[in-house]
Amino acid sequence: MSIQRPKGTQDLLPGVIEKWQDLEQHIRTICREYGYEEIRTPIFEATELFQRGVGETTDIVNKEMYTFLDKGDRSVTLRPEGTASVCRAYVENKLYGGQLPVKLFYMGPMFRYERPQAGRFRQFHQFGVEVLGADKPIVDAEVITLVWDLYTRLGLKGLEVHVNSVGCPTCRAVHRTKLQEFLAPRREQLCKDCQDRFERNPMRILDCKNPTCQEITQGAPTTLDTLCPDCLEHFQELKELLTAAGVSFKVDPRLVRGLDYYRKTAFEVLVENIGAQSAICGGGRYDGLVEQVGGPQTPGIGFAMGMERVLAALQASNPLNNLTKKEFVRFVALGEEAQKKCFTFVSQLRRKGIPASIDLLGRSLKAQLKTADKAQARYAAIIGEDEMNRQVVILRDLTLGEQTELPFAETEEELIQKYREEQ
Ligand SMILES: [Zn+2]
Ligand SMILES: [Zn+2]
Repeated sequence: MSIQRPKGTQDLLPGVIEKWQDLEQHIRTICREYGYEEIRTPIFEATELFQRGVGETTDIVNKEMYTFLDKGDRSVTLRPEGTASVCRAYVENKLYGGQLPVKLFYMGPMFRYERPQAGRFRQFHQFGVEVLGADKPIVDAEVITLVWDLYTRLGLKGLEVHVNSVGCPTCRAVHRTKLQEFLAPRREQLCKDCQDRFERNPMRILDCKNPTCQEITQGAPTTLDTLCPDCLEHFQELKELLTAAGVSFKVDPRLVRGLDYYRKTAFEVLVENIGAQSAICGGGRYDGLVEQVGGPQTPGIGFAMGMERVLAALQASNPLNNLTKKEFVRFVALGEEAQKKCFTFVSQLRRKGIPASIDLLGRSLKAQLKTADKAQARYAAIIGEDEMNRQVVILRDLTLGEQTELPFAETEEELIQKYREEQ
């Protein structure tokens, strides 16, 4: 039996990989413009890092991690997300001792043992940013504007930023009490998960997708109702800054991030997807995560987005958008001498950065021309016996169907010029 790839993984083949490269290119460009530098951390880390940094009560840590003992009996885990690793690297490399804030981005594969389903993979890819060492609302606004600009530039349609504030430990304690009072009379009717959450983390009940829970929480006090003056001011300023930057957003008081170390700003970016809205980016401010991994007290904010989901959204919002780069010129040769001459041209052009190709299978002229068509080459450059004798190349424009003759001496220059004009 042939060997198959592991469940929940994918091979990214030519034809698809171009879309990935294009997305990666946009990400790198925008991060450079915004002054975010790339960090690459290991694919696996000590298991303890995620237990402490992601939270032992989360589904990710409880059910979804790829954890194993290495040959030295150390428990290691394939990273399920990026933030914990970035915080660890920040501490381990003493980045806090340099210029603050530290603005980083990462991109790469993450691993979660989930039930494979459409659009969900066990090895998936995330792009994320983290800003460490700054707690002002302008940082939150910058991070949200970055992702907004990225999505706009990619051409995603129906974008909407949702923002909320989950407050700080002071105001959250007030909210917790008020929310529990509100829910207490109907506590028994909540779903099983929410009954667990009632004591442990009642705020998460606001976020439950169960229809009964949603009905019960109608009119429940939100974190916005109980913000302390400091958190209120932070949220107010964030909204003003987003408006100043031209980002259109909506306040969503039900947008919560459940873990203890989340502070103040929480946000999501939604995209319209075949009539429904779905989130393609989530992020927020956190405190105490750097301390969790042994560093000094450091405020942070970041977001992560699943690259598979963004590519799917792009496909849905613009199915005709073909980012695939076509071949520029394919040389077609008849006879050994012509083949050598073509190979010289191809080699020279490639050295000048012009994509050029040539038949590698010794096929007939007709078959070579067919391949050029199939490859959607812009031009075919043809040299047969007659052309060899006359020292000319037939240059056929495969889009317009026109052709011209070029002397050997002018062929290279002419193709370089045509290529530049089209870029
Ligand atoms: Zn507060
Ligand atoms: Zn529920």
